[in-house]
Amino acid sequence: MKVIRAQSLGYCMGVRRAVSIAETETGKKVYTMGPLIHNPRVLEDLRQRGVQTLETSETSADLREAVVIIRAHGVTPRQERQLVDQGARLVDATCLRVKASQMKAKALAESGYALFLAGEKRHGELVGIQGYAPDCLLVGNAGEAEASAAALHASAPASKTALLGQTTISTDEYSLIAQAIRRYFPDIEVIDTICGATRDRQNALKELCQLVDAIVVAGGRDSANTQRLFAIAQAAGKAAWLVESAAELPDALAAYPTVGLSAGASTPDNVIDEIEQALQQLGVCCP
Ligand code: SF4
Repeated sequence: MKVIRAQSLGYCMGVRRAVSIAETETGKKVYTMGPLIHNPRVLEDLRQRGVQTLETSETSADLREAVVIIRAHGVTPRQERQLVDQGARLVDATCLRVKASQMKAKALAESGYALFLAGEKRHGELVGIQGYAPDCLLVGNAGEAEASAAALHASAPASKTALLGQTTISTDEYSLIAQAIRRYFPDIEVIDTICGATRDRQNALKELCQLVDAIVVAGGRDSANTQRLFAIAQAAGKAAWLVESAAELPDALAAYPTVGLSAGASTPDNVIDEIEQALQQLGVCCP
């Protein structure tokens, strides 16, 4: 029996940068605007270093002399202004890719485009991008995209349209959404916003699924990209588990001759290592 790691897994560039910024800002009154990343282990570690999480609803907090770190998902321009008005010094850890999406959405909206924004509607990244293009049409799947496109076509058939997606949306889902809108707006400008890190992890997992009997995806349950990896493993017909720590590995895994290990972009290296070691102790050993 053996464990095979996906060719690409774990921390992406944006998350690594955000965590490293947060780690260097300790020792002062430091907050992150919402959870820095979707991984409970990392959040607990930061909490122990004195970095607190500011809830988005805390609009009356006194932030004078406080540092507020904007997380990798970004926030709306309104939230940024509000934090500055509360006295905070902002440290922007918005991932550069997410920042690029925010700027693109702003530019398209200001140029008169009807903008479709695809992804999980309540996800912080989408909420942040929407703040730069408040009239955009949020679509969660191809069915919603078709309904929104039909409604827009009925009221404004000559609209210039563009589609922008959450960086963690799956390539297949994004294509289906684009196809659905093209039925009404064949000339829609489809912006490729899917992050290479996400795509690499998804493609690596698809390849891994062909080599193994079961899959373990390591990462936070609140993490959108981790959940997508889990869904990809299930869609490939593999027995699959999403675990936040080694303690959650089920004994049933020991029955599988070959186990693949993948991890979301917000899963730290030490958690991946710990899970791999625990798999080995379940009777699975590396080549
Ligand atoms: S997945 Fe990509 S876009 Fe998202 S934080 Fe990581 S590097 Fe940035």
